[in-house]
Amino acid sequence: MRPVYLDNNATTRVDPDVVKSMLPFLTDQFGNPSSAHAFGDSVCAAMKKARRQLQALIGAQFDDEIIFTSGGTESDNAAILSALEATPNRTEIVTSAVEHPAVLTLCAHLEQTRRLKVHRIPVDRSGRLDLDAYKAALTPHVAIVSIMWANNETGTIFPVARLAELAKESGALFHTDAVQAVGKLPMDLKSTAIDMLSLSAHKLHGPKGIGALWIKRGVHFSSMIKGGHQQRDRRAGTENTPGIVGLGMAAELALKFMEDTATRVKSLRDRLEDGILQSIPNTYVTGDPVERLPNTANISFEHTESDGIPHLLSRLGIACSSGSACTSGSMEPSHVLSAMKSPHGAVRFSFARDNSEADVDRVLQVMPAIVEKLRGSPPCGSRGRSPEEARSGLCLSGSRTGCHS
Ligand SMILES: *Cc1c(COP(=O)(O)O)cnc(C)c1O
Repeated sequence: MRPVYLDNNATTRVDPDVVKSMLPFLTDQFGNPSSAHAFGDSVCAAMKKARRQLQALIGAQFDDEIIFTSGGTESDNAAILSALEATPNRTEIVTSAVEHPAVLTLCAHLEQTRRLKVHRIPVDRSGRLDLDAYKAALTPHVAIVSIMWANNETGTIFPVARLAELAKESGALFHTDAVQAVGKLPMDLKSTAIDMLSLSAHKLHGPKGIGALWIKRGVHFSSMIKGGHQQRDRRAGTENTPGIVGLGMAAELALKFMEDTATRVKSLRDRLEDGILQSIPNTYVTGDPVERLPNTANISFEHTESDGIPHLLSRLGIACSSGSACTSGSMEPSHVLSAMKSPHGAVRFSFARDNSEADVDRVLQVMPAIVEKLRGSPPCGSRGRSPEEARSGLCLSGSRTGCHS
């Protein structure tokens, strides 16, 4: 049977047109874009084109506001570290409790090593940001606010345009991790008070290891990676030209398919949600019911350990992911679900434009039996391990597999 891929918030399939656009830059067009000869010139021009393609997708005013990085993680790190360097007399960071580890791990590190104060704004049970706590944290001590545009686990969208205006009033810079939002939501950055934005190619059908940081013209930027003069001294190192060209093409395609994502992809997501909620009792959708990415379904199943569902689906060739990790027999809910005080684990199904109705039907066909099976078995940790579990070192109703190399 054809595998069903519903884990597009983890990564997406590279679009064949993206691959096609990249191939010349792995063959004939191998020049260094910094070289002052024809080999460099044509590659330099291709990079310029990629900047324009991205500019159109995010609604940036100028194409030179975009610097290419190795991905979302680097962009997040570069934005926060630059802001701290620009305003050394401001020693506080405002972020949310549900950010990606690319932001939260850096913030925890800065708190420990530089004694900076970090405000982690809580969310409610729907994943909505506590606006009063946010406003209270915005004092003249804050160097930077870093709040994601949309959450990768629940799809909940934060009102970043409004949050950026509030940050501006307090004199803090505003950065947003928009890795999950870019390509799924229309954007017009030039009409907002947002100062910096991170994005990543592999979340929008581009290649891995390439992303970008958009920095509004006029915002001071201090480079995290020191070296040569590439990208106007803002990110040293010879550019990943095939990746950059691929990111540009991925951006162009994302813009072209934006309407399709808002309608057809959303209707696939809704069909899966409705189907599961109707056929399986004691299930509910996690996250903001309205302000939510069109591609993401995060569903809680009461009385099951959520890792069990992705595991059993995986055996049937269906890929999705859970919001929790079962380590040494005990369930650890994700930091996002914990922040939402969600008492149950959840399963994330995330769609993209290459999904079909047949994918939804496959999942709906097998889900009731899987949940019934898991609800019938005692929870992981409260029972002995079966021989198969002992052999694999996994807990079947809550196993965590994956590459830890
Ligand atoms: C995937 C992701 C990242 C990390 O991006 P990489 O390109 O994999 O480093 C950061 N933030 C969010 C919200 C993400 O979903």
